[in-house]
Amino acid sequence: MTARVLDGKATAAVIRAEVAGEVEVFAAERGFAPGLAVVVVGDDPASQTYVRNKENACREVGMRSRVHRLSAGVSMRELLDLLDELNEDDSVHGILVQLPLPEHLDSLVVTGAIRPEKDVDGFHPLNVGKLQAGEPCLVPCTPHGIITLLERAGVPIAGRHAVVIGRSNIVGKPTAALLLQRHATVTVCHSRTPDLTALTRQADILVVAVGRPRLVTGAMVKEGAVVVDVGINRVDGRLVGDVDWDSVVRRASAATPVPGGVGPMTVTMLLVNTLLAAKRQATVPTGPWEAPDGV
Ligand code: NAD
Repeated sequence: MTARVLDGKATAAVIRAEVAGEVEVFAAERGFAPGLAVVVVGDDPASQTYVRNKENACREVGMRSRVHRLSAGVSMRELLDLLDELNEDDSVHGILVQLPLPEHLDSLVVTGAIRPEKDVDGFHPLNVGKLQAGEPCLVPCTPHGIITLLERAGVPIAGRHAVVIGRSNIVGKPTAALLLQRHATVTVCHSRTPDLTALTRQADILVVAVGRPRLVTGAMVKEGAVVVDVGINRVDGRLVGDVDWDSVVRRASAATPVPGGVGPMTVTMLLVNTLLAAKRQATVPTGPWEAPDGV
């Protein structure tokens, strides 16, 4: 068997075109386009690159974006004051604080200070709780991208056994919640799981979000499984995932490549979340982007 490639880049391009169309309609009806405010603290080169990519993505679909660049030494008070201002600004529909933050700034306090309806990263405790409760909310971008990629590729989820490796708040846990919401039977594995292979070999859908190159090999994958590789690792100057591609594609029925799989979907879902947030704030029906109910 050779796995079908789940092309995140191509799917992301289709969704961005759809978002651009909806932004045009929204702007024509309202007189202004959805707006995203990005706050970045310090001059970490990786963060600066991510922020630039987000700005470009917004521009491409006709959304407004404004980047607030703060010095690494900014105080918590100054940062919270800026977030208050953005919370109150009706032209700002989505607010994102680029993580990680310098050590003196508590990221939990910072994400909790963003108004939940503008929390396009989905990290506010209210959105985290709503996701667990199966209520409409803003969903973290990478898990949102994973589920959307699976759905657009026509991968059945209901009734399947999904195994998620990784339990972070950003990827593993929300991905497990979304799969559960779509009626998968979900197993979450992590660094203390004693026999990973015994579990991964049962997976119809295997999501790997660890950050270790070649953690998952073909021998760990059930014949015909769908494998989603979330990992981003730099090895000898090359970008690789957590999955040993050559051996896994011989057993899987479908798999996401790195690069070109989950990565492009993540920024795209930020655009979707910003559009959703703008529509909800303008009390416009959210249409196809609303997450299905699920308990
Ligand atoms: P994290 O470090 O917060 O979490 C890693 C998880 O892996 C932990 O829950 C840990 O328990 C588990 N783990 C560690 N070693 C393990 C092992 N040997 N066996 C089983 N589980 C193990 O990382 P994260 O933020 O969830 O990110 C995971 C990976 O996904 C990273 O490579 C990151 O760069 C990547 N990532 C990609 C995107 C994207 O858009 N493609 C977005 C976010 C993160």
